[in-house]
Amino acid sequence: MTATYSVPQQRKLVTELPGPQSVALQARRVASVARGAGTLANIYMDHAAGAILVDVDGNQIIDLGSGIGVNTIGHAHPEVAAAASAQAGKLMHTLFTVTPYATYVKVAEKLNAITPGDFEKHTILVNTGAEAVENAVKIARKFTGRRAIVALDHAFHGRTNLTMTMTYRPWPERAGMGPFPGEIYSVPTSYPYRDGLTGLEAAEKTIDYITTHIGATEIAAFFVEPIQGDGGIVIPAPGYFKRISEFCTENGIVFVADEIQAGIARTGAWYSIEHHGVVPDLVTTAKGIAGGFPLAAVTGRADIMDAVQPGGIGGTFGGNPVSTAAALAVLEIIERDNLIGEAQRVEAAMWARIGDWAQKFSVVGDVRGKGAMFGVELVHPGTTTQYPEALTAVITHAVANGVIVLDSGSWDSVLRIMPPVVISNELIDDAMTVIEEALALLSK
Ligand SMILES: *Cc1c(COP(=O)(O)O)cnc(C)c1O
Repeated sequence: MTATYSVPQQRKLVTELPGPQSVALQARRVASVARGAGTLANIYMDHAAGAILVDVDGNQIIDLGSGIGVNTIGHAHPEVAAAASAQAGKLMHTLFTVTPYATYVKVAEKLNAITPGDFEKHTILVNTGAEAVENAVKIARKFTGRRAIVALDHAFHGRTNLTMTMTYRPWPERAGMGPFPGEIYSVPTSYPYRDGLTGLEAAEKTIDYITTHIGATEIAAFFVEPIQGDGGIVIPAPGYFKRISEFCTENGIVFVADEIQAGIARTGAWYSIEHHGVVPDLVTTAKGIAGGFPLAAVTGRADIMDAVQPGGIGGTFGGNPVSTAAALAVLEIIERDNLIGEAQRVEAAMWARIGDWAQKFSVVGDVRGKGAMFGVELVHPGTTTQYPEALTAVITHAVANGVIVLDSGSWDSVLRIMPPVVISNELIDDAMTVIEEALALLSK
């Protein structure tokens, strides 16, 4: 695909990073912004296009993070900008639950069509990923009349009081900010690099844990990320989710795929659960759906979704007209420009470029990924012991050289690579060369 971008798709540094304008803004930020909003790289951005960010000093930086999986179709897509600004000039807000409008209904229709499963589906639109997860919890509890919620080890489901409790690790997402809601349980998952189990063996371990700690018939919903994002691009072994979803069906548990990070074309499919051949009862969508505008959704079986009484779910800004207009443009662009195919191209380019890193670099334990969503797990050479200092060193080197790349993993030891799916093979090659420089230094 040859698109023309308002910014050349090239890395180009004109100052040290961060540059003087960024340094000046950072001083003002430290004096004005709460410390809890931590930052990966204090480089202030001015504009962007495709897979290139341009900072306030004029540096062109390769984006391998997409604002954590949001800018899937590329930055500041002109057609999304046009759709949003036309909508803003027409109707900005009514509150759908006071007087509705068409763009909300159209997004619901579209999500019902692209989520897995050919049964009747309904959708509710909300503002953020965490809010979608919270609503899925409410819906599943109302539908089943049960209370317990199960999430997997290494899960990330958000930062609100309920969802930070469903998120696996205590630091930094949760520490010191309790009390936490009850009836949330973390259960063992399948982590092929670390447990060496088949999908079926890992599923039996999960099920045994549930049977001996919680009780299957106490559980309202079982939440999974089919490919874990913040948890370190953990992809359960084949067969794991199939067995877990059967177990849920056998026991009347609502099976929820949290696709907030991996959904919407990122992994070379509309939804990453498709790679596992499983149809969930409910799906949560957010990050990539509206090109950067705040929008999230819960979509699923109409009978489950409709268990909640009118007025039981919703919110002031949920499914805002501008966000939904942007989402309609995003979804259309994904189909028209075959961006699912583009994510598959990125996957092929990534395997060709980094598939041998575990053989080549002693600090690389494992390389794994799907589509434009890759993880490189860093370990102390000759062991499988997590090596968070190495991850810090790689990210520091990459950022200083104009490549934004993300951290992840419960031990902060997995390099997370999630570029816009429109990134060129040339940019992938250039960015991977920068990362290789850091890996080579660490592997000496
Ligand atoms: C980001 C994320 C969330 C939370 O979304 P927010 O919009 O940040 O509230 C939930 N689940 C997953 C899998 C995520 O990646």
